[in-house]
Amino acid sequence: MWRATILTLFPGMFPGPLGASLAGRALAAGLWEMEVRDIRASATDRHRSVDDTPAGGGPGMVLRADILAAAIDAAAIAPDRPKLVMSPRGRPLTQARIAELAAGPGPLMVCGRFEGIDQRVIDARGLEEVSIGDYVLSGGEIAAMVLIDACVRLLPGVMGKLESGTEESFSTGLLEYPQYTRPQLFEGQPIPEVLLSGDHGRVAAWRRAEAEALTRNRRPDLWETYRGRSGNQKAAKSTTDG
Ligand code: SAH
Repeated sequence: MWRATILTLFPGMFPGPLGASLAGRALAAGLWEMEVRDIRASATDRHRSVDDTPAGGGPGMVLRADILAAAIDAAAIAPDRPKLVMSPRGRPLTQARIAELAAGPGPLMVCGRFEGIDQRVIDARGLEEVSIGDYVLSGGEIAAMVLIDACVRLLPGVMGKLESGTEESFSTGLLEYPQYTRPQLFEGQPIPEVLLSGDHGRVAAWRRAEAEALTRNRRPDLWETYRGRSGNQKAAKSTTDG
């Protein structure tokens, strides 16, 4: 069973939003497991302190290596499970990495707080630094929730239709085409005629062209990668020219 092990100073933040909707129903149905561990339980002094001032000076506090290492060791996770630490310095998460993590046994995630974490525990426990984007959060908990949510929806049995996971943004290398549903007329705007035609070939071609145009305009970085892939040259070229 896919399992998320979370090491945090704020265990009360979980399951939080992961307890609702798709992820929450899947959790209740036993399609995945969540284990939340309080880092403070590994503190040793009578004040239960987990942080200290940064060596070399500067603002804020740093999570102690000895306390965090003890918390990681106490989790006693299977050796094949990835050990991650949420960090703005990490490699930014992608749908490809999410798919890899969802296909495995599920990660352990360390949630940082304060100014960050003593570098020595990251090195000593071989933690992989993972970022959810180029901005700074106040703690790793929400970042861990983002990762878990993205993984859980890919687990077998969690999403209704099998194809919901394979055709959407990023999995094809493109952003998704625009979606429409009833009413047929909204504030004077109709649903594009082709979508009501019942012609599956035309619908597919329209969606592909829309997805390519969106990606080209909004995300030139994704577009370059998509175009570079073999097999996409022709389709990509016809969109550019048209
Ligand atoms: N001083 C650090 C930021 C610390 S923010 C720096 O400049 O790099 C406190 C904690 O929030 C971090 O330890 C990390 O666990 C989490 N965090 C902040 N931004 C994040 C991001 N973009 N992705 C993942 N985790 C993040």
